Amino acid sequence: MSKIAFIGLGNMGLPMALNLTKANHEVVGFDLSDASCKEAEKLGIKIAGTAEQAVMSADVVITMLPKGEHVLSVYQLVKSSLPANSLLIDCSTIDVESANKAHALAALDNHLSVDAPVSGGTGGAQQGTLTFMCGGTEKAFALAEPILKAMGKKIVHCGENGAGQAAKICNNMILGISMIAVSEAFALGEKLGLSHQALFDVASTSSGQCWALTSYCPVPGPVPTSPANNDYIPGFAAGLMLKDLLLSQEAAHQAGASTPLGANATELYQRFTNDGNGAKDFSGIIKMLRGHADE
Ligand code: NAD
Repeated sequence: MSKIAFIGLGNMGLPMALNLTKANHEVVGFDLSDASCKEAEKLGIKIAGTAEQAVMSADVVITMLPKGEHVLSVYQLVKSSLPANSLLIDCSTIDVESANKAHALAALDNHLSVDAPVSGGTGGAQQGTLTFMCGGTEKAFALAEPILKAMGKKIVHCGENGAGQAAKICNNMILGISMIAVSEAFALGEKLGLSHQALFDVASTSSGQCWALTSYCPVPGPVPTSPANNDYIPGFAAGLMLKDLLLSQEAAHQAGASTPLGANATELYQRFTNDGNGAKDFSGIIKMLRGHADE
C-alpha cells in the first residue's frame, strides 16, 4: 500500500481521498480551506498543517485543485520536500500548457508524473466509478494505474505528458455542444406541441441519442435522476462547463484547430453564467435558450 499526500479536499477530492483510505492506502490530506480540512478530519482523514508537511513522507502526491495556477503553485512548493523518485498525479482539469509545466517541474527533482483528469462528477467520485484519462510515460502510468483503480472503474492511458488533459477538454467540448443541441431540440419540440416524453422516447433510441439526453435530460420527467428534476442544482455546474469550454478554445487556438461549434457553445455558456447561473447545473441552459432564463 502507498503513502499518499492528497492536496485539495473539495467536492471531488474529499470523496476520492476517502476511497483511497478504504483501499488501505495511508492518506495525509491538505487543503487551504479550514472547513474542507475539518470535514475531511471528521471523516477520518489525517490532516497536515501545510502542503510541504503533507508530502514529507509520501511516495505519491495527488492534487485535485481548481486551475492550472493552483497546481503549479503546489508543485513548486512540494517538489523538493518529496522523497526522491516520488510519483505526482494531478487529477484537476487544467490547461494543457500548465499540465506540461507541472510535468517539467516534477522532472526537475527526478519525480515521475501523470496528468489524470476525471469524468464522472461527484457521484462517480463518491462511488469510486470515475473515468481517468492519463498522460505520461509508460513507467509513470504503470505506477499510477493501481492507485487510480481505488477511485475509478476505467483508467485510460491517452498518451504522453498532457494527453489526459487534451482528452478531457475534447470530451467536455462534445458534452457542452451536445447539451445545447438537446436543449434546442426540446425547446423546438415544445413549440411544435410535442411532449417531452415523446421526444425523449424517440431520440433516446434513435440517432439523436447522447449522454446529455439519456443521463442529464434538461427537462424534468424522462430521466428522474437528472438535475432538471431538482431545480437544476448541480450535478455539473455551468461555471465548470464554461471553464472547460474556455480551455478547449485556448487549446484550439494554440493548436490551430477549427472548432466553430465549440466557440459558439463557449459564448452561450458565457452568457448563461454572466446572467448569474454559474452555480446552476449546466443543463439549465435550456431556460436561456427558450428565452425564459428567469423561469
Ligand atoms: P472544489 O472547489 O470543490 O475543490 C478544490 C479545493 O482545492 C478547494 O477545497 C480549495 O480550497 C482547494 N485549494 C485551492 N488551492 C489550493 C492550494 N494551493 N492548496 C491546497 N488546496 C487548495 O472543486 P472540485 O469540484 O473538487 O473540482 C476540482 C477539480 O476537478 C477542478 O479542476 C474541476 O474542474 C475538476 N472536476 C470537477 C468535477 C465536478 O463535478 N465537480 C468533475 C470533473 C472534474
